[in-house]
Amino acid sequence: MTGAPKVLAETAARWRPAGQCEVCRGWQQGAVCAACTARFAPPRLRCQRCALPTAHAVARCGACLHEPPPFERAVAAVDYAFPWDALVGALKFAGRVDLAAPLAQMLAGAVRRAGGAHAGTLVVPVPLAAARLGGRGFNQAWEIARRVATDLGLDASAAVLERVIDSAPQAGLHRQQRLRNLHAAFAVAAASRPTLTGRRIALVDDVVTTGATASEAARALLRGGAAAVEVWAVARTPEP
Ligand SMILES: [Zn+2]
Ligand SMILES: [Zn+2]
Repeated sequence: MTGAPKVLAETAARWRPAGQCEVCRGWQQGAVCAACTARFAPPRLRCQRCALPTAHAVARCGACLHEPPPFERAVAAVDYAFPWDALVGALKFAGRVDLAAPLAQMLAGAVRRAGGAHAGTLVVPVPLAAARLGGRGFNQAWEIARRVATDLGLDASAAVLERVIDSAPQAGLHRQQRLRNLHAAFAVAAASRPTLTGRRIALVDDVVTTGATASEAARALLRGGAAAVEVWAVARTPEP
């Protein structure tokens, strides 16, 4: 019996009744209530190419005109800010895989608002390195990607793109350091080339920060034979 109180305490700390909003804790249907979605995820104008917020509706922002990214378009559901940063963090670092469903639903909605997906698009997650995948037990990008694919009626595969180098954690690094870290970090699995050739790929990640990871992954997919790559992210970090 000595272990019982500890187990009960841990269970109590984890337990939260289904039907409470993840943000305001109000009782409702789904993981985030309509009021919180309206308040914290208002549709906003974004550059169609890189998904950074823009003041006006533009096909390309100044940065994309100056230096176009290797992906054709980017879709983001929300800014990487309260409360979505906490939800993404809980999914990644606290094993809250149940949060993948509402985040995927928001992303699928954003893709629909952006004109929908091209028929035949293959949905591919940004991969984690094997060591990190082993530590976490799941790839949050795949948990989101496969649900978005189901929602939009598309195929998904986590076997196409591999992370061959476990680059150092990207947080806190400057853009140039990130780019150095990421060089040749991704490769297309040889067995997946026939699946990839000539296909449009939707590359899914939980968060796009500078776009450096998405760009490197997109380049690897294009080298591997993809016809075009677009990026779908739950959250996009706004420019500082
Ligand atoms: Zn709420
Ligand atoms: Zn842009």
